[in-house]
Amino acid sequence: MILFKKKAELTAHLKQLRSKNQKIGFAPTMGALHEGHLSLISASKKQNQVTVASIFVNPAQFNDPKDFEKYPVTLEKDIPFLLNAECDILFLPTVEEIYPDGIQERKQYDLGYLEHILEGKFRPGHFQGVCMVMDRLLSIVQPNELFMGQKDYQQCMVVKRLISLMSVPIQLFTCPTLRETDGLAMSSRNLRLSADERKKATAISKTLLFLKDNIREGDLTSVINDSKSILDANDFKTDYIAIADAGNLSLLSTWDGRQKIVALIAAFQNEVRLIDNMLLN
Ligand code: AMP
Repeated sequence: MILFKKKAELTAHLKQLRSKNQKIGFAPTMGALHEGHLSLISASKKQNQVTVASIFVNPAQFNDPKDFEKYPVTLEKDIPFLLNAECDILFLPTVEEIYPDGIQERKQYDLGYLEHILEGKFRPGHFQGVCMVMDRLLSIVQPNELFMGQKDYQQCMVVKRLISLMSVPIQLFTCPTLRETDGLAMSSRNLRLSADERKKATAISKTLLFLKDNIREGDLTSVINDSKSILDANDFKTDYIAIADAGNLSLLSTWDGRQKIVALIAAFQNEVRLIDNMLLN
């Protein structure tokens, strides 16, 4: 694996590979790597000659500065992890390398309603920050294929929109969510949970499974309210439990029994905010 800290050096190296017709896959991350991240690298390796991973904790996407400060950094484990996964290239830039002019001056990306619902509503500015970093990373790496996790369902839709706004020929692959054996979606933020919080955190996937088992066509209010009691019983402070069209994420209060739908949850276990989602049909 080759490690690059400078975008100019990475760009020059990738240009050479591209001139030899090597197909490039890219998996951007914020580090504190786990098997979920690894699954993106594996998917890329199956389809591409060269796989690039990046580790960059993007200050522009944190609406809560405390969350940014506490975001886990485990580089000493991440690098061997990527070596083991036979990742070809790691891009590990500094904040100055990605944002030489700082993060205050912001281009606005037209994300439509995606920016104002769910994560967009509860984390104002978050998706503009995601687009800000992804615009830069995609322009540096110029991958043929991009690998992201279904765990961040709305983010995948936002990045799909960004790719179309950028008019670049990048194919986005959304990889399934990897879970711990008790159902908790793998996440770097799980490292911040105490033993007690970690036990209670399984309530999120239980709530999603409850929705999957109990969803019926018609009004969705009561099944959503019933499902919330699982989170309440486990001391979660819930930002949202929502059911949406799986294709365009428009929020639903009734279901016709046929439309493809996804349930999405964001909730706090004390200080730690967790998100998860599940396709229901
Ligand atoms: P993050 O480091 O949390 O920004 O995540 C980097 C990428 O890994 C994103 O595309 C995430 O959606 C994806 N990812 C995070 N957790 C999982 C998981 N449990 N399973 C699959 N992909 C994941």
